[in-house]
Amino acid sequence: MDTPFGAPSDVIRVGRLGGARVAFLARHGPGHRYLPSELPQRANMWALKSLGVERVLGVSAVGGLRDECGPGTAVLPDQVIDRTRGDRPETFFGGGIVAHVGMAEPMCAALRRAAYEAASAGAQPVVDGGIYVVIEGPAFGTRAESHLYRDWGASVVGMTAFPEAKLAREAELCYALLTTVTDYDSWHPEEGAVDAMAVLSVLRANVAHSRDAVARLAARLPGRDRCGCAHTLDAALMTDPGSMPVEVRERLEPILRRRLGRPS
Ligand SMILES: [Zn+2]
Repeated sequence: MDTPFGAPSDVIRVGRLGGARVAFLARHGPGHRYLPSELPQRANMWALKSLGVERVLGVSAVGGLRDECGPGTAVLPDQVIDRTRGDRPETFFGGGIVAHVGMAEPMCAALRRAAYEAASAGAQPVVDGGIYVVIEGPAFGTRAESHLYRDWGASVVGMTAFPEAKLAREAELCYALLTTVTDYDSWHPEEGAVDAMAVLSVLRANVAHSRDAVARLAARLPGRDRCGCAHTLDAALMTDPGSMPVEVRERLEPILRRRLGRPS
């Protein structure tokens, strides 16, 4: 696909899983070529929205910041702290159309609950809830940063949840994260500092668990009447439709169609 925001990370594969229609997009591209900072997150979310996707599950590898979030554990965060540097495009709006979406609860509670139940039905230890700190990367954090995030009460640290979750909310998509822990970041006294080779080997083991959890989730997706995600723009969209620049409105057509209809 192509989008007004450029090409997505990869070809989007569509099919059926557990009776659900599913679209799969490899965030880091074929062969893992995009840094977290380089991800075309607007193109990715726009493409999923325009395909008719309604719920997005972000599957990702993270570092664990608590004893109970050790390597091999799945964590379903319910909160996020943004420590990116602010140079990742994080909104579809601007250029004449203003919207302010609420992010007090950054995850869709219904989808997060369903993903937690799907993960819990497997063999992997699972943690329900927690704070995900998003860092810019690509380097892992310092020991002092790791201790700081622990003092903030965070459970996991990763590099991709934002702006992905914000863009999903703007596009009126349900969004939740299924994270799996590869390492103890750098705070743990009995573990060495993060080493990319060690991370990779745990990562491979986590992939099988995540695949199984996704298949179980696809078989029991919650109805969208259980959350308000599909109507986010009812309250968030500020600009009078008559004042919207036509070209900006056309660029956002898949996102604005429900609220405004097709541009005339
Ligand atoms: Zn939702």
